[in-house]
Amino acid sequence: MSIAENIQQIEAEIAPNARLIAVTKTKPIEMLLEAYQAGFKRYGENKVQEMVGKYEQLPKDIEWHLIGHLQSNKVKYMASFVVMIHSVDSLKLLQEINKQAAKNNRVIDCLLQLFIAQEETKFGLSEEEALELLLSDELKAMQNVRIAGLMGMASNTEDENQVRLEFKKLKQFFERLNNQSQLFPSNVVLKEISMGMSGDYAIAVEEGSTLVRVGSAIFGSR
Ligand SMILES: *Cc1c(COP(=O)(O)O)cnc(C)c1O
Repeated sequence: MSIAENIQQIEAEIAPNARLIAVTKTKPIEMLLEAYQAGFKRYGENKVQEMVGKYEQLPKDIEWHLIGHLQSNKVKYMASFVVMIHSVDSLKLLQEINKQAAKNNRVIDCLLQLFIAQEETKFGLSEEEALELLLSDELKAMQNVRIAGLMGMASNTEDENQVRLEFKKLKQFFERLNNQSQLFPSNVVLKEISMGMSGDYAIAVEEGSTLVRVGSAIFGSR
């Protein structure tokens, strides 16, 4: 199947509850152009430098999502165009995003990345840390970021029950937060749950994902 057919099939599978982010890391610009020419405009990259390089070469109506671990000193390179940052895992990073977004007269949508996997290698906040961040005075003062939801990556395992449990836990935390949304400042508008990749997006959508991040199932393995 072609790239366009893969995208169409996945979009049909996840509709109407979730939207697809095509993850293009390590893939050449020609592949993005092929998808773009088929009408697809929502892309995710995990490295700032690679995303900036592709942004510069491609049409400007593309919606860019930064999905990978982010260092504060890289925020400035993408603050003028990035639509959503999925990997916010500290107050310090959020403060830098707010500062750079302000310089560009923008409001950048951010997701808090929650640690949900049973693995040591994945980044993210605990539920307690996320709650602390949402309740902090520092967040209240930030006028150029909006906390739009949560992101999580399940364990890299064949065990579907384990993966499902991890997604369920993220969804439950999302609902718990939404039930106490009056405690949070007005720049917290929780509506997105970014979960699900090539191997587990179908389970993620069943468990309440609104944004799936799919790479290899569209563009082939890396
Ligand atoms: C690479 C990546 C994906 C997509 O992975 P695939 O298995 O190729 O679909 C999703 N999310 C993040 C954070 C990634 O780094």
